[in-house]
Amino acid sequence: MNSIEQNLVRIKKSLPEEITLVAVSKTKPVSDLMEAYNAGQRIFGENKIQEMTQKWEEMPKDISWHMIGHVQTNKVKYMAAYVDTIHAVDSLKLLKEINKQAAKHNRVIKCLLQIKIAKEESKFGLNEIDALDILNSEEIGTLKNVDIIGFMGMATFTEDQKQIENEFEKIYSFFEIQKSKNTKLTTLSTGMSGDYKLAIKNGSTMVRIGSSIFGIRNYN
Ligand SMILES: *Cc1c(COP(=O)(O)O)cnc(C)c1O
Repeated sequence: MNSIEQNLVRIKKSLPEEITLVAVSKTKPVSDLMEAYNAGQRIFGENKIQEMTQKWEEMPKDISWHMIGHVQTNKVKYMAAYVDTIHAVDSLKLLKEINKQAAKHNRVIKCLLQIKIAKEESKFGLNEIDALDILNSEEIGTLKNVDIIGFMGMATFTEDQKQIENEFEKIYSFFEIQKSKNTKLTTLSTGMSGDYKLAIKNGSTMVRIGSSIFGIRNYN
């Protein structure tokens, strides 16, 4: 059996140095996260605000917490005091609420716009035009407590490597074009356990890896 520490070391070795690793710890107990923490990991990703907040309360305070799941506007307040980065921002309304709640804590919260790249109906996210509408909106300049630092995408859940690669290529070229016009855009969050190597080949700067570090998840 592989320990969490061994998994982490193996994955880190396989990542180019400039790639940021978000250890996706959803559903896993604090003891598992502490094993990763003691092996040096400081960035953790969760997809439920309540679960993340509980872990934040229990764990050392030098951790960067990333919300990688879909966010309901009325729940932003529960993480505004501490969340570092929110990956799945998909509306101006949500951005405004994040800004409002971050301001109450005198903080700036980093945000990624989630771009829909998968074919599946169920996946959240913006199309490129809607993302540009947000980036170019007049209001964006008035939101002093959020920083849009890039984009996030999830590829289709499929065995078809070519399709996954096409989806990563598409968001990468969108990212590159926008980056050339806006120096704040530094981050492309793509790639999970099954597809992070393809993501890195296609410009990823931040990978979100769960099961390859912590083992398969049990949702019971
Ligand atoms: C769960 C999750 C991951 C990690 O998935 P693994 O396949 O376990 O690596 C990455 N990104 C998001 C948005 C997730 O919800």
